[in-house]
Amino acid sequence: MKCPICGSTGLKTTNSRSTKMGTQTWRRKECQKCHSSITTYEKADLSWLYIKNKSQSTSEKYNRSILTKSILLSFDDPELEAINIENVLDTIEQKIVSMHKTTLTKNELIKIVLNTLAPISANATIKYLANFGPNNNLRQINKLIKSI
Ligand SMILES: [Zn+2]
Repeated sequence: MKCPICGSTGLKTTNSRSTKMGTQTWRRKECQKCHSSITTYEKADLSWLYIKNKSQSTSEKYNRSILTKSILLSFDDPELEAINIENVLDTIEQKIVSMHKTTLTKNELIKIVLNTLAPISANATIKYLANFGPNNNLRQINKLIKSI
């Protein structure tokens, strides 16, 4: 990696630590030429992860942008301005990585999304469940509304 300030390739790592439940590495680097300090974050992409659709017994590659779109649909506009969607997705991916599985069922993924959305917005949680939850989920929605 080049120094974003002067373009030199002489970057030296001066500090690093594991963050976000061990799923990311934070590094402080110093440019040997212009002495600027730069911070980098390293995380694994989830290209190894497959989502299994039980009813059709097919699986597809996990796709962060598809998941992002489905979550964006669940928030009302004023709420969207208040949340950091990238942070929400990072939290979901941390939970996925900490499960140490290469395949998740769609229901497992939906459960992770719902658990992540619940403390952020009751409205978005209910909308996500209504849009993407398993069929016949009226009972689940009522249970969720009661628990909030
Ligand atoms: Zn530099």
